[in-house]
Amino acid sequence: MLKISRQNLRTPGPTPVPDDIVEAMSNPMIDHRGPEFLELISESTERLKQVFMTRNDLFILTASGTGALEAAVVNTLSPGDKVLSVTAGSFGDRFIDLAQAYGADVQRLAFEWGEPVDPDAVRKALHADPAIKAVLVTHNETSTGVTHPLEQIAAVVKGEFNKLLLVDAVSSLACIPLPVDGWDCDVVATASQKGFMVPPGLSFISMSQTAWQAQKSSTMPRFYFDLAAAQSYLERGQTPFTPNVAAMYGLWKALINLLDEGMESVYERHARIGQFTRDGVKNLGLELLVKDETYASDTVTAVKIPDGVDGSKLRQLAHNEENVVLAGGQGKLSGHIFRIGHLGHVSQQDIEEVLAALKRILSKLGFSAR
Ligand SMILES: *Cc1c(COP(=O)(O)O)cnc(C)c1O
Repeated sequence: MLKISRQNLRTPGPTPVPDDIVEAMSNPMIDHRGPEFLELISESTERLKQVFMTRNDLFILTASGTGALEAAVVNTLSPGDKVLSVTAGSFGDRFIDLAQAYGADVQRLAFEWGEPVDPDAVRKALHADPAIKAVLVTHNETSTGVTHPLEQIAAVVKGEFNKLLLVDAVSSLACIPLPVDGWDCDVVATASQKGFMVPPGLSFISMSQTAWQAQKSSTMPRFYFDLAAAQSYLERGQTPFTPNVAAMYGLWKALINLLDEGMESVYERHARIGQFTRDGVKNLGLELLVKDETYASDTVTAVKIPDGVDGSKLRQLAHNEENVVLAGGQGKLSGHIFRIGHLGHVSQQDIEEVLAALKRILSKLGFSAR
């Protein structure tokens, strides 16, 4: 029998799952075309809309976050459509790869990894090419620990140019404020295994009226992620294909917990733990990747690996000797940073344990932590 004991799991997804959510997930299996499922999906969809702060249509998909991002692209765009894709990290790059895989004509607007997206540059790019139809943006770049100024970006994209806005909010929604209607975001995608504290396997996507209009003329191939099908099934309290019912039980409980706590309190809690993590890391004498802390993410912190320290050794010792699971760097940051996730189910004590462990490990590796 596989037996995994509790870890201080500080990857920025999957995140630890609280006991009451695990318990909810152990409910008996049901018919996904029966009355209990209708209740489950109807209530969860309504509550998700509250967390998204939207009155737009919203769908629960059985897929990881990338599935919802794929749904965003294939339901609104056509091959050859010009899109502006803004990136400052590996998730921004992945959004580009996805759009290109389906034949979008992507104009790439790239920033240094660790820097925020500059809304002025978005304005210039949209000004320079009126043929651009949509803008793709990552709200919180998980690979660098940077939260991009989405409100200002949306003000440009929607307020000044009225383009379609597709948002990757996988590591921000339910942790960092993102009023979908307030900022006029057309399509917003996120996933269960980050701020929602549910195991991997579900993703969520909202579609504005403008997005539905784009959907009508969109010709990208789609089948599993056809949101028109999802909509017609949802009217009957169902999904087109067999959903991840167990994860949906967990989601049902998670949404009750989030809304009972109140989203304002959830956001404040993330802001506090983010600040606590950054302060603790700096107190050890370590440096953050993000240069301007105004843009530091409250869900994940990227830390530079000091000169002379072997990053993979550091994470290995953390795992084996301290039971602390850290994330490494992705893409070109591999070997240069490690990351501490602090989203979803996380306490100050969890972070205190991480900091104490880092202090011991760093001294073993020859870096004298303060
Ligand atoms: C985790 C994450 C994703 C999606 O990853 P999946 O593995 O498909 O769930 C996408 N974007 C961001 C910003 C993420 O943090």
